[in-house]
Amino acid sequence: MRKQNKILIANRGEIAVRIIRACKELGIPCVAVYSTADKESLHVKLADEAICIGGPRGGDSYLNINNIISSAIATGCNSIHPGYGFLAENDKFIELLERCNLTFIGPGSETVRNLGDKVLAKQIAKSVGIPVIEGSDGAVESLEEAQKVASKIGFPLLIKATAGGGGKGISIIYNHDELIKMFELTKMEAEANFGNSDVYLEKYIEKPHHIEVQFLVDHFGNSIYFPERDCSIQRRNQKMIEESPSPFVTEALRKELGEAAIRLAKASGYTNAGTVEFIVDEEKNYYFLEVNTRIQVEHPLTEAITGVDLVKEQIRIAYNDELALKQEELFLSGHALECRITAEDPNKNFMPAPGLVKNLVMPGGPGVRIDTHLYNDYEIPAHYDSLLAKLIVWAPTRKEAIRKMRVALEQFIIDGIKSNIEILYLIMHNTNYVRGYYDTGFIKVFWETLKGEF
Ligand code: ADP
Ligand code: ADP
Ligand code: MG
Repeated sequence: MRKQNKILIANRGEIAVRIIRACKELGIPCVAVYSTADKESLHVKLADEAICIGGPRGGDSYLNINNIISSAIATGCNSIHPGYGFLAENDKFIELLERCNLTFIGPGSETVRNLGDKVLAKQIAKSVGIPVIEGSDGAVESLEEAQKVASKIGFPLLIKATAGGGGKGISIIYNHDELIKMFELTKMEAEANFGNSDVYLEKYIEKPHHIEVQFLVDHFGNSIYFPERDCSIQRRNQKMIEESPSPFVTEALRKELGEAAIRLAKASGYTNAGTVEFIVDEEKNYYFLEVNTRIQVEHPLTEAITGVDLVKEQIRIAYNDELALKQEELFLSGHALECRITAEDPNKNFMPAPGLVKNLVMPGGPGVRIDTHLYNDYEIPAHYDSLLAKLIVWAPTRKEAIRKMRVALEQFIIDGIKSNIEILYLIMHNTNYVRGYYDTGFIKVFWETLKGEF
C-alpha cells in the first residue's frame, strides 16, 4: 500500500529497536543509523539497512544533522522517525526536513519550537485555561531579577532551564543564599546541556505526583487522549518506575486532564503523538508542567492498557492517515507497570556502569514485555544513556501487576555489569509503594532508609 515509504530511524538503543519492529509489522523498509561505537548494536543488525554516520560523540553522529539528512537521501528514505532524545525535539532539524521534503514522524517545526520553550508552553497552557505554577514571567535575566521573583513567590522554588529535558538543568532552592549560589551554576548547566542558558523560576510544589497524558492528533483535526501515566517514582527528577493508570487519579480528574491536554494540543497546532505533563499536588490540584513533543520512554504502559500501538499510529498519522480510533471507543483495561533498568551502580551514587553483558536471562510469560537492545556478549558503549531495558508488565489489577513485576525482576539476570534491578525489586516490596502511597519524594526517603544496608 505504501511502496514509496521508507523510514530512517535517527536513534539508537531500545527505542530504535522498538521503531524497527513497528516498521516491519507495517511492511515499511527501514534504515538504521549508527555511530562507530554502536557498530555491534542490535538496531544495526535488525534494520533492513544500516549506515554509519560518524564517531561515538553525539555531536558527531546522532546529533549530526547533515550526516543524518544525507543518509536519508542516499538510502532513498522519504521519512525520519526521531525516537526520543537526540534530535527528537530539535525544531531546526524538523524545519530542514520540511525544506528537503522529508516527512518528520512527529509534530511540525513551529509546534515543536513553541512547546519546546517551557516558558512559552506555559503561556499557551494558561491561555487555554490550564492552571500553571506560580513563577517568573518568562526567562529571568539576572540574579537581581531572580531575587525579586523569589521574594514574591517564596521558597522553596526551582530554577529551571527553559530548554530543559531529561531531568537536567533543574535546581531546588530553599533560601536567598542558595539562590545566590545556584543561579549562575544552573545557567551554566543549562548552557552545557542544551546550548541555551535561559532559566525561569517556579514555585516548588511539595509532595507532588507527576501525572502525564498521552494524546494523538491527526491532520484532519481528530484527536484522542489516553488514560494518565503516573511517573512519580523519580530519582533526581528522572523517572525510574511508571504506571498506568495512576492509583492517585480519579475518573473525573482523568477526564479533566485528558480534555486539558487536547485543548493545549489544538491551541499549538499539534499533529502526531505528544504528552502533556502535569504536577498534581496532595489536594489533587493540577498544574501544567511541560509538553514532550515526541514518543516517550514509558509509552508501552499506554499500549498495554489500551491495545493501541503508538509508534504505528505515529507513522500512520505522519503519512496522512486518519485516526482510526475515537475517544468513546477507547477503553482502559487492567493495570501496567514499567521499570527502567539501567547500567548504574547504586552503591556508587548510581554512576553509569557500562561493560560487557554476560549470561543474560530475561523474564517472560503472559503480560510481560521487554523493550531492549541487549544480547549476550554485547559491549555497552560508555557514550550514551544508561537505559538498558524497559520491563513492562500488565495484569488485571495493580496488586497482580506488582506481583508479576516482582517475579519478572527476580528472573532478570544480567551478569558482567552493575544494574539497578535489585533496587527496583526492593521498591516492589515497599509498603507505601504497594499501597500506592507515594509522591516524587519517594526515592529520596526510600534510599535514606536503605543506606548502609544495600
Ligand atoms: P524535564 O523537561 O527535565 O522532564 P520537567 O519540567 O518535566 O523537566 O520536570 C521534571 C521533574 O521535576 C518533574 O517530574 C517533577 O518531579 C519535578 N518538578 C518540576 N517542576 C516542579 C515543580 N514546580 N514543583 C515540584 N516538582 C517539580
Ligand atoms: P520521557 O519524558 O520519555 O520519560 P526522559 O525525560 O527520561 O524521557 O528522557 C529520555 C531521553 O531523552 C534521555 O536520554 C534524555 O536525556 C533525553 N532528553 C529528553 N529531553 C531532552 C532535551 N530537551 N534535550 C536533549 N535530550 C533530551
Ligand atoms: Mg518532563
